[in-house]
Amino acid sequence: MHGTPHRTGEELESALLAAAGRLGIDIMTGATATDLFAQSDGRVSAVRFVRPDGARETVGCDALVFACCGFGGDKEMVRREIPEIADAEFWGHVGNKGDAVKWGRELGAAVADMGSYQGHGAVAVPYGNPLNWGVLMNGGYQVNSLGLRFSNEIRGYSEQAVEVIAQPGRVAWDIYDEGRERPILGFADYEAIRSLGGVRKAASLRELAVLLGIPADALARTDAEVNLLREGKGEDLWERSFLGTLLLQARFCAVKVTGALFHTQGGLVIDTAARVLRTDGSPLPNLFAGGGAARGLSGPSNWGYFSGGGLLTATTLGRMAGASAARLVFQRVT
Ligand SMILES: Cc1cc2nc3c(=O)[nH]c(=O)nc-3n(C[C@H](O)[C@H](O)[C@H](O)COP(=O)(O)OP(=O)(O)OC[C@H]3O[C@@H](n4cnc5c(N)ncnc54)[C@H](O)[C@@H]3O)c2cc1C
Repeated sequence: MHGTPHRTGEELESALLAAAGRLGIDIMTGATATDLFAQSDGRVSAVRFVRPDGARETVGCDALVFACCGFGGDKEMVRREIPEIADAEFWGHVGNKGDAVKWGRELGAAVADMGSYQGHGAVAVPYGNPLNWGVLMNGGYQVNSLGLRFSNEIRGYSEQAVEVIAQPGRVAWDIYDEGRERPILGFADYEAIRSLGGVRKAASLRELAVLLGIPADALARTDAEVNLLREGKGEDLWERSFLGTLLLQARFCAVKVTGALFHTQGGLVIDTAARVLRTDGSPLPNLFAGGGAARGLSGPSNWGYFSGGGLLTATTLGRMAGASAARLVFQRVT
């Protein structure tokens, strides 16, 4: 995938901030937009916002771009629109409370794919960093607190979130070994989990089970069953193929994980200029949307999410929305 050299959000944000700085664009932080002012034809004319000290200000606008993502930070809205993931922890920005959809609907905008979201089935507990999915793709597996597998772990990391939160305590353990760990050493998220002591290691599976506080016999049975599947013997209850993957070998590794909601992907329907469309398909006069505020590309549910799909819509739709807004305001092609 395309990404910044160290593949961290911090680095991406720094690059965007630096670009804005070079262009002399003012960025106001610590200000929450609370109200939009619009004319009867849907033209947005101003935004009111509140500062942390409670001071309220209003700023006029000729065009407005919604870049305030989806509604993962509004628990009730998630419960209404995507009940299956409402009990998962939300790991996106808590300020993402669905304002784009709420305001857009009031202006007569169409919304679509409201059940669409990016989940993650292996967020390290209690650290909050996603555990690299490679350990499962390369033949590791997940067990619950009973030491049992419960799903086809490799259907996709987004889909796996609901499987994990259905387990006792809403947690599971990724079980792998140092051979599977090697390729992910150096990834910032993994190093963070490691440095905080989140990766448990042991010389035997039995010892590992004791460390994790899960039944050792059950874990040993699970591992033996998986080993048969690796040789093509028997059929997996969850239809996962382990064929050709290597046995886990000492040292064994485990990380406690939960399923999380990363961001919602349903949102405002836009056209190819990122203009927000009304339910009749006509564009609102000066309203644009990108990123999680707009309907994403993942279809209606959790299974359509593809890696990079979140930042893809944030960066490309964001750029298109910005360019369209600038064209509208300055009447020139950027
Ligand atoms: C842990 C995690 C890992 C991820 N990993 C990846 C990945 O590897 N690849 C990928 O492509 N995507 C990934 N994503 C998804 C990606 O981060 C999002 O899709 C993307 O950040 C959305 O961009 P955005 O600009 O729409 O919203 P955000 O980046 O969420 O920014 C929206 C901002 O708007 C602010 N805001 C909201 N409402 C208001 C308001 N009323 N007034 C003022 N401010 C407001 C919010 O506080 C927030 O700061 C990940 C997400 C998470 C949570």
